[in-house]
Amino acid sequence: MLPGREPNGRAAAASGLSRLLGTRTAWTPVGDGEFFCPGCGGDRNYQRLTGQRRFSLLGVPVLPRGATGPVVECAACRRHFGTDVLDHPTTTRFSAMLRDAVHTVALAVLAAGGTCSRAALETAVTAVRAAGFDDCTEDQLASLVDDLAADTGRFTGEPCAAGLAIELHEALDPLAPHLAAAGRESILLQGARIALADGPYTPAERDALATVGAALTICSDDVTRLLTAARTPS
Ligand SMILES: [Zn+2]
Repeated sequence: MLPGREPNGRAAAASGLSRLLGTRTAWTPVGDGEFFCPGCGGDRNYQRLTGQRRFSLLGVPVLPRGATGPVVECAACRRHFGTDVLDHPTTTRFSAMLRDAVHTVALAVLAAGGTCSRAALETAVTAVRAAGFDDCTEDQLASLVDDLAADTGRFTGEPCAAGLAIELHEALDPLAPHLAAAGRESILLQGARIALADGPYTPAERDALATVGAALTICSDDVTRLLTAARTPS
């Protein structure tokens, strides 16, 4: 308290009492990492804390009142949040997920098309670069598609389909809940454009795009509508 500022009356009594008796929480760090802070809006470091609450007398903790938390404390704004904030990806993680998603969709559609045409590869490279893989080349994609065909063919005995479906779900399932409908549709449409670059959809390309749509939680009616719309130049 500042000198010369004596408390008086009821306020003094209340503040005196709260100094006398209170609850204190001692926080113990149990982990850390990076998260997207909803408080100050950005990728920040956090500490995961568990708390031990105690009644305190004269500022001295006396009786344990049980555990509290865990909470997540932002290193920048120091605000506390429930641990569910960790379910949201950081901006960095989110853009990596998006980049991987477009890359995987491009590979799946190319692989479904069988031998890669130049036009399909060019469209795929443009999409993958725009998604963040700046140094992606047509040769790179073509050789990845070959590897994929060899791998999945060896394990499943059939061309690509099963292995690709797994790859697509791995890349898209974790991303889908964090995307708005327009964002999910845009990924499917990028795949559709790659498929259409060398002519109408083949049945295998339709299958691959249907798997993309399902993994992105777009209902099959909407998938059909979007694939038709992509075919009609606007
Ligand atoms: Zn913050």
